[in-house]
Amino acid sequence: MRSVADHLDANRLELGRAWEAARKGHWRMARDPGGIAWLVLDRPGSGTNTVSAETLEGLDRLLDALEADPPRGCVIRSAKPGGFAAGADINDLAELAGDEAEALLRRGHAVLDRLEALGCPTVAVIHGAALGAGLELALACDSRIAIKGASVGFPEVRLGLHPGLGGTFRLTALIAPDEAMTLMLAGNTAHTAKALSLGIFDEVTEERHLAAAVRAAIDALPGRGLGAVEWVLGTAPGRAVAARRMRSTIAEKVREDHYPAPYRLIDLWENHGGDPAKMQEAEIASFAKLLKTDTAKNLVRAFFLRQQLKRGHDAESRIKHVHVVGAGEMGREIAAWAAIKGCRVTLSDLSLDALGSAVRKAAEICETEHLDPPEKRDALDRMMPDPNGYGAACADLVIEAVPEDAELKRKIYDKLGRTMKKGAILASNTSSLRLAVLADGLADPANFAGLHFFNPASRMQLIEVGAQGATDDVILDRLAAFCREIDRLPVRVADEPGFLVNRALMPYLLEALILVEEGVDREAIDAAMLDFGMPMGPVTLADQIGLDICLDVAKSLTDQLDRPMPEIPRRLRDMVEKGNTGKKAGQGFYDWSSGTPEPKAGADAVLSRDLTDRLILAMCDACVECLRKGVVRNADDIDAAMIFATGFAPFRGGPIRYARSRGLAEVRARLLKLSDKHGPRFRPDEGWADLD
Ligand code: NAD
Repeated sequence: MRSVADHLDANRLELGRAWEAARKGHWRMARDPGGIAWLVLDRPGSGTNTVSAETLEGLDRLLDALEADPPRGCVIRSAKPGGFAAGADINDLAELAGDEAEALLRRGHAVLDRLEALGCPTVAVIHGAALGAGLELALACDSRIAIKGASVGFPEVRLGLHPGLGGTFRLTALIAPDEAMTLMLAGNTAHTAKALSLGIFDEVTEERHLAAAVRAAIDALPGRGLGAVEWVLGTAPGRAVAARRMRSTIAEKVREDHYPAPYRLIDLWENHGGDPAKMQEAEIASFAKLLKTDTAKNLVRAFFLRQQLKRGHDAESRIKHVHVVGAGEMGREIAAWAAIKGCRVTLSDLSLDALGSAVRKAAEICETEHLDPPEKRDALDRMMPDPNGYGAACADLVIEAVPEDAELKRKIYDKLGRTMKKGAILASNTSSLRLAVLADGLADPANFAGLHFFNPASRMQLIEVGAQGATDDVILDRLAAFCREIDRLPVRVADEPGFLVNRALMPYLLEALILVEEGVDREAIDAAMLDFGMPMGPVTLADQIGLDICLDVAKSLTDQLDRPMPEIPRRLRDMVEKGNTGKKAGQGFYDWSSGTPEPKAGADAVLSRDLTDRLILAMCDACVECLRKGVVRNADDIDAAMIFATGFAPFRGGPIRYARSRGLAEVRARLLKLSDKHGPRFRPDEGWADLD
């Protein structure tokens, strides 16, 4: 029997009789008294609809009935309160091989062609998101009505693909082709107003007016037969000019050999834009080919790695009130983010100025996150500056983000220990101090853990959840659940120096600075790593992180590790001494006085295998060491953490995947050669042997 809550939930959406109809596979269907058929997508056992082979087969069967006895109109919508459909079932895609993929795509296309050719007006009603194949389903309808707040998008390029179920030719035919291409090439989401102005939505309404809006749309639409679609595409020479422009815009962002999908999408449109039938054929062939590329395989894997990090934290954190100590670079962003995500937040600092700028920063983040005015007001209301630190007494979680000084931190914990409520969690955002050292002397070390956010905390997705010997597992689970609740990806790490990410990143950054000291142009080093697929060069990254922070972490790792670290370059120490600490000081390895680094004009990128290997293999080796020492659970966690915290070339699948793809024996041999040439810091970790 359905509970009252279920009933109310169901009735939040206008589903008419379709809600009462029995579910057959992924669909429910019923006709209303006005003769309109409502097809409701309701994938069993899932809170979200995805479009799988089974979904399309189910639709095919419903189309039999609709063709045999055509209704006055047909509505397609979702029964899931969360949204229309999230896209294709990635599980299906990941398992497909070559011809199988093409055959499956053809079957899917045939179903959507049939929907498009149905002899009655068809309307897709979209609430929440319609993404990828979900949007392709909606595009096969004659019109689309959005419920306020709805959004659409084709995120396929982020998986190394392009739309494959008719999106390429239907969207370029429906709206201005250049706008359609921009949406597909960027993989971004268009929110209600944008999608309406583009012409993807024909109308926007509210749930309570939907039945009337549907009737009006169906009355206004003529029934249409196969082939009566208006294809509004430009001429071939016009497309060639536009395609050239698109290619050069894409080339500024990604290289074709790294990310071929956007380039193939442009080819598709340039070559076949005027001919939907040909474009459909080409779309299927191109999509099936892209599926087989390493890029798509690695990006699809990264998608699963993200899911994996989120999974297993289904319990609630029971953290409603967060108190943050320290409103500096990190604390203010952590506080703002937690408030935006719904926590009550108090934020304390010795400096009133720091608290003032934290409030201004929070307002800025609300803008970047596109919060509407009431959401922004509520988020800012939830974040309270608290100079006296009274909030610590009622907080469920206290996050300490004061400078990296163990004595200072311990003094603060001592005071907190006297005020924090029983059972509350204390977490440190420390980057390089040992948690066990910080836990020493705590009254309740079982409730103490690391919660290592990355900078800027409002944008970086990963959080390292660090355990010290006494940390209770329940506390770690609650912290991981908290990360998920604030839309972040937790990775559990052991209390080893630098945890995982800083441990692996630091040899890479130091090696880059050693190369600068050896006389290699900073631009050439950065260019080599951009070429490898990193989002930013290491010299720029060091400036951005702050050279003082790099120096602190480097010293701390050098002191604590039992393996040789690169020697700290003299120039790094000198620059920190002079206060040239990078972006925040306006001067580091680059001149940041204009806010962005000023590269030296005319510096050529010197790309050599030796240079790339010195940087990348140093990082891979540190990752292998972390795996051997059990800093993380497995190699997947390493790849995921390095992709989501540092942007490690996602199309390469993360450092361990990269090493495997090059061949473990080959990589070890290279490291040995590098250690002969440049010193013992390159001696391969003994953990490589366990990876075989
Ligand atoms: P910060 O110097 O920018 O800010 C620290 C803040 O703490 C300052 O506003 C200071 O006034 C305040 N403070 C000092 N003593 C205090 C006290 N007794 N009570 C309340 N407030 C006090 O430092 P940050 O860069 O935000 O770093 C904070 C922590 O986060 C450090 O442990 C650091 O290792 C870690 N961390 C930093 C980064 C980074 O990139 N900056 C990244 C990850 C982790």
